[in-house]
Amino acid sequence: MKVLVPVKRVVDYNVKVRVKADQSGIELANVKMAMNPFDEIAVEEAVRLKEAGIATEVIAVSCGATACQEQLRTALALGADRAILVETDAAQAADLQSLAVAKLLKAVCDKEQPGLVILGKQAIDDDANQTGQMLAALLGWPQATFASKVVIADENGQMRATVTREIDGGLETLSIKLPAVVTTDLRLNEPRYATLPNIMKAKKKPMDVLKPAELGVDIAPRLTTLRVVEPAKRQAGVKVADVAELVAKLKNEAKVI
Ligand code: AMP
Repeated sequence: MKVLVPVKRVVDYNVKVRVKADQSGIELANVKMAMNPFDEIAVEEAVRLKEAGIATEVIAVSCGATACQEQLRTALALGADRAILVETDAAQAADLQSLAVAKLLKAVCDKEQPGLVILGKQAIDDDANQTGQMLAALLGWPQATFASKVVIADENGQMRATVTREIDGGLETLSIKLPAVVTTDLRLNEPRYATLPNIMKAKKKPMDVLKPAELGVDIAPRLTTLRVVEPAKRQAGVKVADVAELVAKLKNEAKVI
């Protein structure tokens, strides 16, 4: 069974993002980029399935500009067998929306016929939390989102995934037929680090480059971003001399007691 893992190039989670002066988006010039953290978890899960003898091949896919090759190489260093870059130009990459990505991934699935697609539950740049769900709908496949545990097994000749999901106040366990779409939550696993020998080996692993037009997909944006603004700054606090003053302020100024 092939496992497909879509990985997105996003601003590194350690970077403090800055909004552009014209409020059209965030500043990307000279900003450190990385693989979306939920996608590292997805790669790790797929590689563990291969190590367990359940997956036969792990394919990492990224949609966007040429620079996404960096994140694909990281996925290869973490254990993916090969990679596919669905390459757009830089302007298209800047506004590549979830629906367009889901359509591109559907076209890749039609070509590769994976038994399982594992995506991150959301990308930390746009927090859209849509691509996996849209992909499952386009494919007509079952989906289990926000997975904190995935067990794949053959049940009477039918491969199924038993997926535990973290929901408000508890855990939900679903059983879905493969092929299916699963999205990863934070606690699914702890991704390994890429070792130097594996980073070197990854340079020789195959990477195909496809264009959206070759896949017959229209990636034109459907949504318009009106503005992006920073959160309101917190007001400075005040120091109080004693508890009596604190209580008086809470009562008379904040009026919360
Ligand atoms: P989102 O719906 O944008 O929050 O993203 C959810 C997941 O979809 C990500 O964690 C990735 O696994 C996948 N994804 C989103 N955008 C891309 C992209 N441009 N290339 C590859 N995978 C993507």
